[in-house]
Amino acid sequence: MNTTREFDVVVVGAGFSGLYMLHRLRELNLSAVVFEKGDGVGGTWYWNRYPGARCDVESPHYSYAFSPELEQEWEWTERYPSQPEIMSYLNHVADRFGLRDGIELETEVTAAAFDDAANRWSVSTDRGETVKAKYVVMATGCLSTGRVPEFDGLESFAGEIYHTGSWPHQGVDFTGKRVGVIGTGSSGIQAIPEIAKKAKQLTVFQRTASFSVPARNAPLDQKEWKEIKADYRSLRELARHSATGLPFTGGTTSALEATPEERKANYEAHWGLGGFRIGAAYTDLIVNKQANDTLAEFIHAKIDEQVKDPETAELLKPRDYPVSTKRICVDTDYYATYNRDNVSLVDVRSAPVVGLSERGLKTEDAEYEFDAIVFATGFDAMTGSMLKVDITGSGGVSLRDKWAAGPRTYLGLSISGFPNLFSVAGAGSPSVLTNMVTAIEQHVEWISDHIAYLQERGLSRSEALPEAEDRWVDHVNEIAGMTLFNQANSWYLGANVPGKTRVFMPYAGGLGAYRAKCDEVASADYEGFALS
Ligand code: NAP
Repeated sequence: MNTTREFDVVVVGAGFSGLYMLHRLRELNLSAVVFEKGDGVGGTWYWNRYPGARCDVESPHYSYAFSPELEQEWEWTERYPSQPEIMSYLNHVADRFGLRDGIELETEVTAAAFDDAANRWSVSTDRGETVKAKYVVMATGCLSTGRVPEFDGLESFAGEIYHTGSWPHQGVDFTGKRVGVIGTGSSGIQAIPEIAKKAKQLTVFQRTASFSVPARNAPLDQKEWKEIKADYRSLRELARHSATGLPFTGGTTSALEATPEERKANYEAHWGLGGFRIGAAYTDLIVNKQANDTLAEFIHAKIDEQVKDPETAELLKPRDYPVSTKRICVDTDYYATYNRDNVSLVDVRSAPVVGLSERGLKTEDAEYEFDAIVFATGFDAMTGSMLKVDITGSGGVSLRDKWAAGPRTYLGLSISGFPNLFSVAGAGSPSVLTNMVTAIEQHVEWISDHIAYLQERGLSRSEALPEAEDRWVDHVNEIAGMTLFNQANSWYLGANVPGKTRVFMPYAGGLGAYRAKCDEVASADYEGFALS
């Protein structure tokens, strides 16, 4: 199939970003198509269906702010939204705003090439079609390219293999099975307690321990929910301009100014409240190691309180990076799960996994037999999904070549040499360090405003200037350098993917400051862009 369909805009991906992008483009009377690999909308939440999958951001705030009617009519049921509830919400959004006829499902974009003479993109899909578009928006998500380590013998294992990020739609019944889980990041920490309830025997393979705090999930407090609904507009405004994309302020003093008793009381209060706001209990936790150590010690003590076996408790304590420099995890009964008779923890830092066998998994010093192995081994984050598409820009330059030494963008939204191509929540944007939905809305609104500006003026080409991109990359690095983030081998740095260049990818200056910068660029007639 090789049609000559033409659109103003091709959007890649139908998650939170792609759905809102399509809505905005339609408001501008532009023709747009969304190509989506899955057979439904939802993006990240469509794929991550593992047991226990739930968002760490509270329901009322993990939602679109663009429609006051939508936020009034939708009813969340729990403090934190479960994966199925987020899927219901996004399907409701697709129906409510009549978006479905603009989305082509089960269609993966394989390549995009820019034609300099025509200022048009040719976008190819796995259905064998190539369409033309003035603009391409990559709404491909930050955590959507799952990573299975290249273990020897992957094919030889006779049992079932799963990755948390591409979970079977019909679910998996672990009842009575011997299960191995590799990985103890946010996905593993949510899945492990649920799998433990069903499996005959669960063995968790941990390379790096995570700092995890209790979620304290519960049915949504109806009184509080009513108050939020009554005040939604001002809460949204606060969120839009805050550092985190949430309508809460963190602590206002240094952890080191407080006495040990005051600190303990403050951390206890946050621990009781639940959720990751404990990471912002003081102003200096992410910039001062000594301050950060006070929180690390508090969480270590909490692990001791929850885990009966002292050796297991010791293994579960992260020792080699500051709190929050790898994303803090939010759990329900994670640590207590290790008190169960059917659960054991194996340290694969001291004896790494060497591969899979027909019967199970081999480490350097033992072999374990399983009926099922779950990879909770994460993602090729932020750049993986962009680079899966073979993108060639002006002069036939490949994005894979341009980013060989790490991603370079202007504002995380645009890439020099790749005119009329925009990314939502790209490397260089605050996205993953903030409430994703608030960040996504800012990106989508900025991109659609920019496209409207070009259309109104009859401009056919917008391209980030190399010097503007260089300045932005330097700024992103400078801000990261003021924090402790570089002290962890995190996916923020690409450190989880062997061979990936180590560059701190998100913008750590906060969503509010980022929004102000993007607004300033727009009001200076898109300073840093060559428009023609
Ligand atoms: P992740 O944080 O990257 O964790 C992957 C885990 O797999 C790590 O423990 C890692 O160990 C381990 N691993 C990878 N390769 C390994 C190997 N060869 N041998 C042994 N262990 C290996 O991935 P994730 O848990 O999927 O989470 C990714 C991000 O998605 C989160 O940080 C969060 O932003 C988002 N997320 C959010 C939620 C939520 O909102 N509730 C839930 C899930 C995910 P090392 O640390 O040693 O590399």
